[in-house]
Amino acid sequence: MVFGTQVQYRLPEFIYKRLSGGKRVFDLTLQNAEIPEDQPIKRDGSFKGWLPIMYGCDNFCTYCIVPYVRGRERSRQPERILAEAKEMIAAGYKDITLLGQNVNSYGKGSDSGVNFAELLRRINALDGDFRIRFMTSHPKDCTRELIDTIRDCEKVSSHLHLPFQSGSDRILKRMNRRYDREKYLELVNYAKEQIPDLSLTSDIIVGFPGENYEDFKETLSLVREVEFTSLFTFIYSPREGTPAAVMDDPVSREEKGKWFSELLKVQEEIAERNIRKHIGKTYKVLCDGVGSKDGFMSGHNSGTAVIEFKGDESMLGKFVNVKVNSYDGVLSGTAE
Ligand code: SF4
Repeated sequence: MVFGTQVQYRLPEFIYKRLSGGKRVFDLTLQNAEIPEDQPIKRDGSFKGWLPIMYGCDNFCTYCIVPYVRGRERSRQPERILAEAKEMIAAGYKDITLLGQNVNSYGKGSDSGVNFAELLRRINALDGDFRIRFMTSHPKDCTRELIDTIRDCEKVSSHLHLPFQSGSDRILKRMNRRYDREKYLELVNYAKEQIPDLSLTSDIIVGFPGENYEDFKETLSLVREVEFTSLFTFIYSPREGTPAAVMDDPVSREEKGKWFSELLKVQEEIAERNIRKHIGKTYKVLCDGVGSKDGFMSGHNSGTAVIEFKGDESMLGKFVNVKVNSYDGVLSGTAE
């Protein structure tokens, strides 16, 4: 049997065809496949869960294979998403992450008239004590309306993961990202102004084909200027079948490794400064694991901070107010 990701839900049918017909089964549907609804769902965990809101991607960043293998963007109907969110809340889920390759373009091309900000507002209005997270955002589709919605909706986490990939406009063009440094900075500065305690995270690719040290320094300067909470950093590696995989890439892996280490060093200093800003503050923390010391539990605040506090496993899956007292490689606090 050979089939693509868009028709995974037809696996039982394919198995039946294979066993009853004795022939090979092929389905290479890539485009316009309907979104399967009403499928049985098995979730890992009992209080943190994923909720897909859209599939595919239309952006064709030159380094990425997703649009070729996952097909074009398709959004689920808002009613379906709301019904699934209600089921999750009723089942005790406290941390729900809305998933899509580019959640900011949710609803485009659909007749529902509901964009991503409106979807967040509708989920936020559901009864229950829970938190909404989402990933991933694309800066070209991130709007002030979305930032205002995060600010105004108390159940939406104060976390924005906004991948900028490179601080150099020249490289952003080669990546086909369709925003520039100025637009990115304008957005993140607005988000920082509007959302107190915002956790701001991002992805960076170091050593994209054609990137030189001057371009890389622009990435470093953006990292210094924004002061991200944390970063997911990667040295570029080619994906066969993408435009970037055949671009000239004269800089050696060794040289890129040096740039990468330089970036990590800058970010480590920023992250340490940022994490200490939590000391003295009280957060609503979802207890989601055991701590690193005996008798301690661990949890996340509405952003990305991990805080440890005295407690036991009966707290798992519950919200606890914790006042942060210290940082010694881990934030520690007292449950109130
Ligand atoms: S990097 Fe993200 S936005 Fe760009 S093509 Fe891939 S999935 Fe789409």
